[in-house]
Amino acid sequence: MPYSSLVRRKPRDKAQAISPAVPTGNTQSDGEHPSTRAREERRELMQQVSVFIERHDLNATGGNLAVICEALSGSNSKLAEAFAAREISKEPIDQRWLDTLTRLDPGNNDRMSELEKLMDRLEYSMMRFAQTAKSAQDETSDGREAMGAQIEAMNTAGNEMASESIDVSQFIELSRAMMERIEQVENAMERSQAETDKLRSSLAEARTEADVDHLTRLPNRRAFERRFKSAASEARAKGEQLCVAFCDVDHFKKINDTHGHEAGDRILVAIASTLNEIASDQCFVSRHGGEEFVLLLYGHDKDAAWRKLDGVRRVMSHRQLMNRETGRPFGKVTFSGGIAEVTEDIDTRSALSRADEALYQAKAAGRNQIIAL
Ligand code: GH3
Ligand code: MG
Ligand code: MG
Repeated sequence: MPYSSLVRRKPRDKAQAISPAVPTGNTQSDGEHPSTRAREERRELMQQVSVFIERHDLNATGGNLAVICEALSGSNSKLAEAFAAREISKEPIDQRWLDTLTRLDPGNNDRMSELEKLMDRLEYSMMRFAQTAKSAQDETSDGREAMGAQIEAMNTAGNEMASESIDVSQFIELSRAMMERIEQVENAMERSQAETDKLRSSLAEARTEADVDHLTRLPNRRAFERRFKSAASEARAKGEQLCVAFCDVDHFKKINDTHGHEAGDRILVAIASTLNEIASDQCFVSRHGGEEFVLLLYGHDKDAAWRKLDGVRRVMSHRQLMNRETGRPFGKVTFSGGIAEVTEDIDTRSALSRADEALYQAKAAGRNQIIAL
């Protein structure tokens, strides 16, 4: 099947994608039920993914399936474009290319900045609401106090008027009822203000949590991308050095296959914690995804960054890890790393490409080593 026909699939209709399994009474013009069509489309997509994997002789790993699915379904347009361009250039679509693509994920930045913008808008709306509620509350409170004083004054005046046979009691009653109503509104505003405050602090927590990797508790890729951008422009502005390093666990698939996924997870936590030992003001350590970590080394030239990372690699490679669930040794677990100096390029992202290339060279040269390019 030609690739162009795969990437030019019509994007799925959202209404179809979420169509209920139970008939709703809507009739399709072609008589086909929406959920049947959605199922058919899913099946078709799975088939295309499987043909793609087979045709390019790729492994059916979770990471590969996710990226191929996003590209072929068109749900990530930047990935779809990258796949199409690769096909046209007739260069191989192999594991090396897929790994690099995932590492440098072209659509990731756009998606993240969209999410950031949404969160900013939500926070702004809540802040505005809290301000409006507060000023409305202040006003009603002032109004209520003024009204209370008026009622008091009327009460006194009413007594005098009563002696002159003028009945103001009904008017005073009405004013009292209005005052009670204002008080109720004021209380309701206070409650909604407290709820908004709670929502705002939940949003702040969610923002913090969204920057953390749940398995290792290291900052995640989202946090890295933000840090990378600001660190790069600051380093350029101040004429300081900044290195970026990718670290990838060696033969991690084999560890998973031999000891199971959960044991693999524990290894990732152990590696994260070893890497995190060098985290400081000068070194930002994060999990980039899967069995990969990415570091920013502030004020380090390539040699200093290499020495620092190679020190961690050496410590890790001398450790004998044990599977505490089974008592079986994991043996030596090593990682490879690729380093690039960020300010060598005007374009920040090409530093990531060079670090990726350096990592690839470290793998090709036998793994368990660090290369700086
Ligand atoms: P290489 O030395 O070339 O890097 O080989 P590798 O086996 O480490 O690389 P490969 O890309 O073939 O396999 C990576 C594996 O990492 C496949 C995937 O299932 C596994 N993996 C990714 N994320 C996680 C995770 O969160 N937990 C566990 N246990 N495994 C993961
Ligand atoms: Mg990897
Ligand atoms: Mg690996």
